[in-house]
Amino acid sequence: MSDPETAATAVAEPPGDDAADPATRPASEREPVGARDGFHRVVILGSGPAGFTAALYASRADLAPLLLEGNQPGGQLTITTDVENYPGFPDGILGPELMDKMREQVRRFGTECKFEAAVEVDLEKRPFVVRTDENAYRAQTLIVATGATAKLLGLPSEEQLMGYGVSACATCDGFFFRDKEVVVVGGGDTAMEEALFLTRYATKVTVVHRRDELRASKIMQDRAFAHEKIAWVWNSVVTEVLGSREGGVEGVRLRNKQTRADSVYPTQGVFVAIGHKPNTEIFRGKLEMNDVGYIRVQEPTSRTNVDGVFACGDAMDPIYRQAVTAAGTGCRAAMDAERWIEVQD
Ligand code: NDP
Repeated sequence: MSDPETAATAVAEPPGDDAADPATRPASEREPVGARDGFHRVVILGSGPAGFTAALYASRADLAPLLLEGNQPGGQLTITTDVENYPGFPDGILGPELMDKMREQVRRFGTECKFEAAVEVDLEKRPFVVRTDENAYRAQTLIVATGATAKLLGLPSEEQLMGYGVSACATCDGFFFRDKEVVVVGGGDTAMEEALFLTRYATKVTVVHRRDELRASKIMQDRAFAHEKIAWVWNSVVTEVLGSREGGVEGVRLRNKQTRADSVYPTQGVFVAIGHKPNTEIFRGKLEMNDVGYIRVQEPTSRTNVDGVFACGDAMDPIYRQAVTAAGTGCRAAMDAERWIEVQD
């Protein structure tokens, strides 16, 4: 059972007089909201499958978690359309709808969800302090579920057609390209993996790479080169995705970097596979990470190098990056936090 005093004060109060106009002050100068009352046993950062699953378990354990949704409420699934590989939905479910249901489910058990993003964390002492642009919160434990962001090309047409023929995840969306022709952009292992995966569905997969040699590992290159369905366009960048939301993708405009010549390459799908970036900048120098920013956890637990801080989902997983694996690690983080709190109390 929760400590009634803590449960009763789990909601951070709006800034009082002593924190006048907090949004106008730099984050580092702001004090936790309601220094007495803005205390939470569990603060969860992130609102993808990992964050919501952590919230589900923490709230059902009567820990009244606060969940800060971050810059992309609902996480990466909100930029996909149908999700067909999440168990329990035999007819599939729209990514945004799945995330709305997860939010609804955690609220039912008492999670407080706020549309705020952490901009700074103080992990030097406990309780930890999490600052957003609007508020600051104190946390006995922190669950980091900030996810990762697929790197994109940065084209307006790419953004416009994301989920309508443009994707950053072949595992999620490849199925929809059965008997179609698709383009994969990138020359690393992710691009090779995506291209090989897409050969299961597509009739032709064209890899468009900006140089004339791949960055991918030799074994992945060999596999991709050997595949009869995979074609190659070298020294080229995509400058525009052609099509409409109604009709889908019809082609890509390419620029050859050597000749500067522009051309149109017909295709019905574009998979951008130029890497992922974990959303862990605010933890740099505070939590142990690998060289590209994925948080290190003490496998098989979710414990980080800071006692009381747990990590789950894509922020710590450079390998699987699936909604269902993220959800699983979110469960792990909440159970680890709960056990950790029990020992402290
Ligand atoms: P990488 O950084 O290795 O590769 C990114 C690729 O995208 C590069 O070829 C790069 O081109 C290209 N690229 C980057 N930005 C742009 C852009 N703006 N426009 C066009 N092309 C661009 O990322 P990956 O995700 O492929 O791999 C990340 C790590 O994960 C690696 O260590 C990889 O080995 C590992 N991994 C391993 C897998 C496996 O073993 N099965 C599967 C997936 C990942 P350029 O080469 O010119 O820089």
